[in-house]
Amino acid sequence: MKIAEVKTYILETTLSEPFHWAIGEAVKRGSCVVEVITDDRVSGWGECFGPARPAAAMVEAYKPWLIGADPLATDKIWQDLYGAFRDQGQKGVPICAISGIDIALWDLKGKHFNAPIHQLMGGPIRTEVAAYATGTYRKRSGDPLDYIVKEVLGYQAEGFTACKIKVGFQVDEDAALVAAVRHAVGPQFGLMMDANHGYDAIDAIRLAQAVEHLNIIWFEEPVPPEDLDGYLAVKASTSIPMAGGECEYTRFGFREILKAGAIDYLQPDTCAAGGLSECKKIADMANAFGVRMIPHVWGTGIGLSASLNLMAVLPHNPPGRRPWEPMLEFDRSEHPARQAIMKTPIEHVNGIVQIPTGPGLGIEIDRQALATFCVN
Ligand SMILES: [Mg+2]
Repeated sequence: MKIAEVKTYILETTLSEPFHWAIGEAVKRGSCVVEVITDDRVSGWGECFGPARPAAAMVEAYKPWLIGADPLATDKIWQDLYGAFRDQGQKGVPICAISGIDIALWDLKGKHFNAPIHQLMGGPIRTEVAAYATGTYRKRSGDPLDYIVKEVLGYQAEGFTACKIKVGFQVDEDAALVAAVRHAVGPQFGLMMDANHGYDAIDAIRLAQAVEHLNIIWFEEPVPPEDLDGYLAVKASTSIPMAGGECEYTRFGFREILKAGAIDYLQPDTCAAGGLSECKKIADMANAFGVRMIPHVWGTGIGLSASLNLMAVLPHNPPGRRPWEPMLEFDRSEHPARQAIMKTPIEHVNGIVQIPTGPGLGIEIDRQALATFCVN
């Protein structure tokens, strides 16, 4: 079996209502989907996080190392691709492109052996995961104290037991919002907050100290991803654990975070940090450092299924009668292509999501639906 063809699909849709976070706004939602086709006409699907057009261009650039290669040799291909642009491509879009390719290769491997990816990766350790809701983005108008509190109450009513609140705008405003949400949902509901690196350490510390009494599970990306000293300063100032990693890449990048002891909840994105091959290595490294891992998830059902397959094999750390379990990041913001491109959507029931059990990613792509979102 050889790789015969590699295709990219740039998906793009205009949102019914733009939404923003601390450092950016989404008017459209896009994604780069990768299809790797073997010479016996079997397709594997992957997805790249980040800007879709540059990711698709990078996938194109990796093609000479892919065409004719054995698709089952996932680690060898990963090393070939990483080595191809190592000098200029250790982080960012080149690694997002490798991620999409690697996920597609794992999908193919699963189909070849008629087994789910998580089985081939040594699991499953778990067959379902509790999900937390990601949402609470800001609208262009309206009072966040009103519409965000209502949004979170909606998640609670749906059966979610935790939700992440977007912060990073202005300290007093953020503190008032977190307090209003906590007041509305009661003391038991899990709350995280995510500044999307919109703060420097001074403001991040001010917010952490202002909301510390509200029982916050983690403070995500309080400061820019390159500022590990900033993470350490915030961490030293508060009992709230630090989370981050959606802007970090490969075992080499995560090694530095782990060595510094900067982050308590490591959040590599399967579609960005190097794919399933690399995220399993990062997970094992986090395990060795005693750090919890909860993958970052932001994309279509392909990324969601890849994350679920990875989550199935995340090691307990430590094992026990009631070990700590990772939670799935379940993005609830508008993304018309997210579920539509799959023949069977991945949904939650009372905040619980089943890990797919079909061969490979365990999903079937609806090519017609894919074509309606495709702009290349
Ligand atoms: Mg985040």
